[in-house]
Amino acid sequence: MHDLPPPDDGAPWLLTPGPLTTSAAVKRAMLRDWGSWDGDFRAMTAELRARLVAMLGDPDVTCVPMQGSGSFAVESMLGTMVPRDGRALVLANGAYGQRAVATLRTMGRPVAVLDKGDFAPPRGAEVAAALTADPAITHVVAIHCETSSGILNPLEEIAWAVAAAGRRLLVDAMSSFGAVAIDPARVPFDALVSSANKCIEGVPGFGFILARRDVLAASAGRAHSLSLDAHAQWAEMERSGQWRYTPPTHVVAAFLQALQDHAAEGGVPARGARYGRNRDVLVAGMRDLGFRTLLPDRWLSPIITTFFAPADPAFDFARFYAAMKVRGFVIYPGKLTEVESFRLGHIGQLDTAVMARVVQAVAESLTEMGVRDTAPAPAALAAQRQVEESLA
Ligand SMILES: *Cc1c(COP(=O)(O)O)cnc(C)c1O
Repeated sequence: MHDLPPPDDGAPWLLTPGPLTTSAAVKRAMLRDWGSWDGDFRAMTAELRARLVAMLGDPDVTCVPMQGSGSFAVESMLGTMVPRDGRALVLANGAYGQRAVATLRTMGRPVAVLDKGDFAPPRGAEVAAALTADPAITHVVAIHCETSSGILNPLEEIAWAVAAAGRRLLVDAMSSFGAVAIDPARVPFDALVSSANKCIEGVPGFGFILARRDVLAASAGRAHSLSLDAHAQWAEMERSGQWRYTPPTHVVAAFLQALQDHAAEGGVPARGARYGRNRDVLVAGMRDLGFRTLLPDRWLSPIITTFFAPADPAFDFARFYAAMKVRGFVIYPGKLTEVESFRLGHIGQLDTAVMARVVQAVAESLTEMGVRDTAPAPAALAAQRQVEESLA
């Protein structure tokens, strides 16, 4: 670890899944200006692309960075990869699956949904059945870590079901890439997408598509959008080394620093292990305080964890948020529709010492609010039972 702790600018720790707390070195990397056309910056773009491809270790994969937040890159991938006469099946179990559905509908691509509600994971057998039932489906869209609940979906069994049915797989690996290994030999995909401000620990400003070169080459002229055409962006980068329109130069500089730090830490296994230790300290500490997680241990991701809110009437999320912020932590509201919850992320420049302080801050905040009982509402226990049944 580099600059831990605390953030040297006095800002609170971000327990949010991106933007997240970055290192001082990443922030310092932005303190100069680059010309987008200049050879120095073109070399930076080439290095960024090469390093990301190397993380997957598959020479048939190429990298297309795309300006914008992660959703812009998802839209770019979907619009470029799913043909106008194709049909996508989205495996949805949370907000990001629903966003992929909305994205496809907005661009007028035919879309089917396997909707598992707020958290239950799509299983390989269900995917296989859905593909048998609907032979018109050409592409399956899977969310790797569904950040809205924190569940790590079973990507490998999904990928095999898709491959066995002869369909193509597109993966939203936004919040997992860089911390959870994805082996292209075990997860056959056409493309996956992530962004600068998640597990690589850069700042927001662009996303990137890692796609099979032959698939990308075959997708010319498909995109619904001029600026989000991943094939055109790729062709320009291959031809001139440049982004088509103004690149986020400072964000790219910060990202290169973040990539070097990622490698120095030990790459994907070490990054994932640190996040996993963060989660373990957090979850154990919160359980000691009487909190319950939405998901059983096996389905917890190293990225972010959902906790049920205490049913005690003295608990109020807005007050809890403010009390945590005073103590130096920015937390995240829950996204469950039926039960009150909140989320704590464990990615970014955080370690177990910081997570122990988070637990301490939670205990102090509860005392300040007068919360005596951290047990969740009965509806939460029903939700947990539902989780256990769906995961059995
Ligand atoms: C963060 C995230 C996105 C992209 O969100 P943006 O706010 O557009 O950056 C997409 N999918 C998942 C799973 C995410 O975690």
